[in-house]
Amino acid sequence: MTLPHDEAAAPSNDLPGADAATLTIDLDALGANWRLLRDRSRDGACAAVVKANAYGTGIERAVPALAKAGCRTFFVAQVSEGRRVRRVDPAAEIYLLDGLPPGGAGELVAANLRPVLGSAEEVREWIAACGGSALPAALHVDTGMNRLGLPVEEALALAGEGAFAGLGDTLLMTHLVVAEDPGHPINARQAEAFRALMRAFPGARTSFANSSGGFLPDAPACDLARPGYSLYGGNPTPHHENPMRPVIRLEATILQVREIPAGAGAGYGTHWTAPGPRRLATIALGYADGYPRAAGGTDAKIAAGTPYGQALVGGVRCPFAGVLSMDLTILDVGDAPEASARRGETAVLIGDGLEIDEVGMRAGTIGYEILTGLGDRYRRVYVGDGSGAGG
Ligand SMILES: *Cc1c(COP(=O)(O)O)cnc(C)c1O
Repeated sequence: MTLPHDEAAAPSNDLPGADAATLTIDLDALGANWRLLRDRSRDGACAAVVKANAYGTGIERAVPALAKAGCRTFFVAQVSEGRRVRRVDPAAEIYLLDGLPPGGAGELVAANLRPVLGSAEEVREWIAACGGSALPAALHVDTGMNRLGLPVEEALALAGEGAFAGLGDTLLMTHLVVAEDPGHPINARQAEAFRALMRAFPGARTSFANSSGGFLPDAPACDLARPGYSLYGGNPTPHHENPMRPVIRLEATILQVREIPAGAGAGYGTHWTAPGPRRLATIALGYADGYPRAAGGTDAKIAAGTPYGQALVGGVRCPFAGVLSMDLTILDVGDAPEASARRGETAVLIGDGLEIDEVGMRAGTIGYEILTGLGDRYRRVYVGDGSGAGG
């Protein structure tokens, strides 16, 4: 099957040189992850959250792969993302998490996109724009995030007044604050609030769990799970082994290798000093590629025991030496096999057990930010198609 592919809308390096870092995206692993989440979920069905260009993996390739795996419902943040999903999946149910843009209801109706309504005002605008035809939408109730959605009391009061009667097929949803920490008391409070809402909206379909929420023991059983991060290989259970298959692999080419004496610095600002004679390799990947500069290896971090970036060379973990430059990163390859630490060989930045969660931690952030920051200068290689047929 040939898929419509909008090159302008899909960030990719169309003319990558041999020096471009390679981002490999395994669409079969993506499809397998979706099926695993669907099978493990106590919810009736499983959607896929594909906002932010499918967490950096590329909407135009991720959505058809997820559809092939069986996914029918997609969540994005913004209208432009919804349009991109619609283009590659004409039959999909598409929800916009950011809600109804002011004055945008007509545009959404025309594009067959469903808003996640987050206020009484949005509900009124949507009902008016539907012109009596009661189109489907989601209703977002805020049970603790204080970000988007109707406060619980307001939603319950409005339900009592029949304010939502003009809505069509309604997906009642809320969003978890700390689902990745099952012991946190706010999970139980959010679950309890959502159970009360489910009773007040007996006709609505329901959606509670994001990636980590699907692994909470006491989450209410709903109609639709809404995982994002875990689809792309992120660990939904950060304190346990990752049940997901890795989707992303990032490799960069070694451009030069050099020997330096003890006491020599490396990189801008000489924030790193060689503790002894070292062998350094410079790779073609920098912060302009979306890899955080904050992952740099500095004397201060080493002294404080603060984690910092690593890459695998010949299967051996090699720490970053100094801060990342725009286009380049220096690795201390002293422990790597010499045959692998050579010009033209590759260093693995994500993959082979170096997971996105760890990469995020080593950059002082989370894996989500690593994924959504993946740059547009990479040579993007897609393998598989979501069916899993290719392995
Ligand atoms: C992003 C988002 C999700 C997906 O969350 P993950 O942690 O990536 O699984 C689900 N619901 C809402 C409202 C979101 O904003």
